[in-house]
Amino acid sequence: MRKVVKFGGSSLADSHQFRKVGDIIRADESRIYVVPSAPGKRSAGDVKVTDMLLDLYAAASQGDDFEALLTAIRARYEEIVTGLSLDLSLEDEFNEIRRVMKEEPYEDYAASRGEYLNGKVMAAYLGYEFIDPYEVIFFNEEGALNTYKTEKVLSARLKQTERAVIPGFYGQGKDGRVRTFSRGGSDVTGSVVASAAKVDIYENWTDVSGFLVADPHIVYNPVAIHTITYRELRELSYMGAAVLHEDAIFPVRSKGIPINIRNTNRPLDEGTWIVESTAKKPAYTITGVAGKKGFCAVLITKAMMNSEIGFGRKVLQAFEENDISFEHMPSGIDTMTVVVHESEFMDKEQRVVSAIHRLSQPDSVEIESDLALIAVVGRGMRSTRGTAGRVFSALAHARVNVRMIDQGSSELNIIIGVANDDFETAIRAIYSIFVETQL
Ligand code: ASP
Repeated sequence: MRKVVKFGGSSLADSHQFRKVGDIIRADESRIYVVPSAPGKRSAGDVKVTDMLLDLYAAASQGDDFEALLTAIRARYEEIVTGLSLDLSLEDEFNEIRRVMKEEPYEDYAASRGEYLNGKVMAAYLGYEFIDPYEVIFFNEEGALNTYKTEKVLSARLKQTERAVIPGFYGQGKDGRVRTFSRGGSDVTGSVVASAAKVDIYENWTDVSGFLVADPHIVYNPVAIHTITYRELRELSYMGAAVLHEDAIFPVRSKGIPINIRNTNRPLDEGTWIVESTAKKPAYTITGVAGKKGFCAVLITKAMMNSEIGFGRKVLQAFEENDISFEHMPSGIDTMTVVVHESEFMDKEQRVVSAIHRLSQPDSVEIESDLALIAVVGRGMRSTRGTAGRVFSALAHARVNVRMIDQGSSELNIIIGVANDDFETAIRAIYSIFVETQL
C-alpha cells in the first residue's frame, strides 16, 4: 500500500500542529509522499502565511519597505523550527526572497514561498527528500496545469525516491517563472502527485472529520459522510459545501484513486471517502443537503408555449445576450422558469426582460427575488420510494413554503427553491427527517 498525504494550513500552523502531523506520518509506513500547505491560521483572528506573503508583495511592488513584514513571516517559521528542535537555517531562503522582492517582485512567486519554506521544514523534520514543484509541475500558456508534461516528469522523478516532501500550490509557468494554482491549490498538487505516483490512496488532512451531511453553522453537530461519490460531491460543492478544491478531483478520478478526507486533530476518525462508485449503501437515504441564498426566478408565461418550436432557445438567448448563466429551468405546459443568481441578474434585469419580450413574445414575464436553493443529494434516492414525499412533508411541517422543485434526471438530487428567510429552517427540517429520526 502507498499513499500521498496532503496537510492543509491549519494542520501546519505552528510547531504543535507539526508534531501531530509528524506522528500521523510516522504511524503508517505507507505515507510516503507528503504535500504540505503553508502555515495557516493558529486561531480565528490569525493571518495565513500566504496572506502575509501577498501583503509583502503588495508593499514590494509599490517600492515600499517590506522588512517588517518579512520579519513577521520569518518569525512564523522560526517558531516551528525551534519548537521542533530542528537544526535548520532558512537564512539563504529568506535572503533570496528579499532579493527577488527587491529586484523583480511578482505575485505568484511571493504567494508560493509559504509552501516552499514549509516543504523545507517538513523535509528536515521527517528526514525525507525535498522535491521543488518548480522542477516537476508545469503550467501551460493559459495558466492551466500541463497534465501531460507534469505526469511524465513528476512520475519519473518520484520513481527515484522512496519518500519525499513536495510542497503544494505551485509549479513552473510556461515563461519559466513560478506559477501558482488558485487559492487552496495544494489540494490539486496532492491529487497530481497521487496520480503521477499511482498510489492507492490520496489522504487529504484538514481540520474537520470529512464532509458533513449538513452545514454545522446551520445544523447542530451534524453527522459525517462516510462515503461519497465524485458526482454527489460535485452537486454538494456546487451548493457551497466546500472542503476540497474543485480541480483536485480530476487527476485522481482519472486513475481511480480514492480520496480520504481526514482530521489532523482527530486522527482516529475515519473521515470521508470520496470514490468513483461504490456498492456501499449510504447510511441514510440522503448523502447530504446543502444550499445557497440569493437567487431570482424569472417566470415566463405564454399560451400554447409547449407547441412553439424554439421557444426555450429564444428565452435563453435573452440571458445569453446579457452574459448571464442560468442555474435551473423547471417548466410547465405554458410556463417556464429560469433561475439565476441575483447578484449577476440585478443590474441587467430590465434589459433581460425586454430581450425576452423582443425574442419570444411571451404573454407575461414575472420576477421573484430572494430565493434560496437547496440541493438534497444522494445516490440512495433512486432506489428508495417516497424520498420526495418525505422532503415535502418535512418542509410542510416546518411551515416552509416550497416555491420551486426541480429533480435532476440523474435522480441524484432534488433541488428545492424556498424564500431566503426559510433557508435555515428548511435545511434543519430535511436533515432532521432523514438523519435525526434514523439515529
Ligand atoms: N496556501 C495557499 C492558500 O492559502 C494554498 C493552500 O493552502 O492550498 O490558498
